[in-house]
Amino acid sequence: MESYVLYISILYVEYELESESAHKEIKTMISQELLDILACPKCKEAVSLNTTKDGLVCEKCSLLYEIRDDIPVMLVDEAKPLDKN
Ligand SMILES: [Zn+2]
Repeated sequence: MESYVLYISILYVEYELESESAHKEIKTMISQELLDILACPKCKEAVSLNTTKDGLVCEKCSLLYEIRDDIPVMLVDEAKPLDKN
């Protein structure tokens, strides 16, 4: 799974370099198509976009996977614990 996600990330980096004007389009693609593909690397459950749209949340693990430069960082080591107020 991790290598698969990395491959997707590389594709998006190349796409972004090709067309800076497609920036917003890439964000849309991440929120829709990538979300269907991406899963929590820890529990393999589906993740969902958070309210500020800068990270992907796994409710089961209460972890936030940040989106950096439009690329979701799907690594358990990089994930941040969610605040459970
Ligand atoms: Zn999880």
